[in-house]
Amino acid sequence: MHWSERIADKIIERDPNKDCYVCAGGGSPSGSIHIGNFRDLAIPYFVALALKKKGKKVRFLYSFDDFDRMRKVPVNVSKVVDGYDEYIGCPYTYVPNPFGTEEPNYGAYFEKEFAEAVERMGIEVEYIYQTKEYTSGRYAKDVAYALEKRKEIYDIQMTFKSQEASDEDREKYYPVAVYCSKCHHDQVVIESYNDETHELTYHCKICGQTETVNVLEYFDIKLAWKIDWPMRWRAEGVDFEAGGIDHATPGGSYDVSTVIAKEIFGYQAPVFQGYGWLGFQGVSSMHSSSGINITPAAALKFYTPELIRWLFAKYEPEDAYNFYFDDTIIRHYSEFDKGLASYLDGTAEEFTKSLFDLCLIEGREYQNETSFNTISSLAPIVNFNHESLKKAIAALDLEWTPRADERFEKATYFINTYQPEKLFKLLEEKNTAYIETITDEEKTIVKKLHDYLVNAETVKDKEVQQFIYDCVNNPELTKKENMAIQQRYFKIFYNLLFGTDAGPRLYLFFAASEKSSYIELLNI
Ligand SMILES: [Zn+2]
Repeated sequence: MHWSERIADKIIERDPNKDCYVCAGGGSPSGSIHIGNFRDLAIPYFVALALKKKGKKVRFLYSFDDFDRMRKVPVNVSKVVDGYDEYIGCPYTYVPNPFGTEEPNYGAYFEKEFAEAVERMGIEVEYIYQTKEYTSGRYAKDVAYALEKRKEIYDIQMTFKSQEASDEDREKYYPVAVYCSKCHHDQVVIESYNDETHELTYHCKICGQTETVNVLEYFDIKLAWKIDWPMRWRAEGVDFEAGGIDHATPGGSYDVSTVIAKEIFGYQAPVFQGYGWLGFQGVSSMHSSSGINITPAAALKFYTPELIRWLFAKYEPEDAYNFYFDDTIIRHYSEFDKGLASYLDGTAEEFTKSLFDLCLIEGREYQNETSFNTISSLAPIVNFNHESLKKAIAALDLEWTPRADERFEKATYFINTYQPEKLFKLLEEKNTAYIETITDEEKTIVKKLHDYLVNAETVKDKEVQQFIYDCVNNPELTKKENMAIQQRYFKIFYNLLFGTDAGPRLYLFFAASEKSSYIELLNI
């Protein structure tokens, strides 16, 4: 059974008669949202789809925690603007947009970047913006209530801590962050709170202002995370949420929030699923040191939307896995194609069927597509020329399918960005210096190949492969000995054509390229 269905069953079992189930995710727009954090959205989304498949009504929410304090200035921001350190401690929505684009503030800029990529993946989301919710006063009564219950909240939190509770700390404890009305920073000392009048007095350490506000009317106050989270579970009626594995540790924020939800807000905590981290492999040091952040939008440059959905649906949530920037991407496309073929012809196993129910995008037509491997092998050979590539595909008796254009675009980006070693350039003149180094016997073989190619009406990859094989193989030698000879000849052909010891798959190269572009290089 697919994990999304297992979780859906658990949600239904816990509360079988609920009219509409709520699956939620969330994150802070602290900068470009990393593809690893995409699991915050993908896991509840797939669970929502599984609930729908079981005939249930579902709301799928994603909360932007844009009323959180800015903690640090990311590299891509400090590169374009100076002085953003002064906004540390302000909510993301009170920080100016550093990029001068139309979005009204810092939070909105990164929210839009994320939401656009999510939309391209065919994922429909009901977004909730926490600045809007807080500053509209929607949570004002909950804030007042949490302030009134502050000592109980303190006691609950202390049961999860190893240090001793102290009366002094208990007296000073306030489960809120207050943003100063003058400078918007959260560096304030709360001096008092009156449970009867709801008046709170704070002193700002940044601008020096001291002010008394009524928390039912002053809305720039945010509950601390472990109180904010359960308060919002109740506000939205959340049944399921996912979060990083750190939230799921015993005594971690989910455990604490569960008790606060029950004891303070009278709400049963949702089913929670912790997820493992995503790592990266094969990113060159150049990319990691310059602070390039792999966002969903960046991943969409080399994966199709369906492939990203497939990757995120495939792994169990607890599994940590790596995002690769090497031939693994090609393997992923091949695996996807194999699964899709079985899904389309009805032979898929149960898990594969569920997987493709989740990763295919509603309203789009699917069929078996030109393989990404073929496209990415041929594209550098034809110098990424679209028309030549289509001709080359036809020459190989393959079909240029409706989504081949999209795959070509992804392959072009992928090879040029992450695999420049696969780019080969034909020599402009004969490699005379190299020709002098090869033996007469080797020259004879090159001449044979040249004559064969000149005389072939159309060069077919399988035929040229057989020809080369027949020319160089000696039936009296062992397989291993013949392999060494083949390798030697390939090195010769590559040096004559590209001036390098390695190159593209030769049979494909001969079949896909214009004969006139290379034939003279072999005329030795
Ligand atoms: Zn201030």
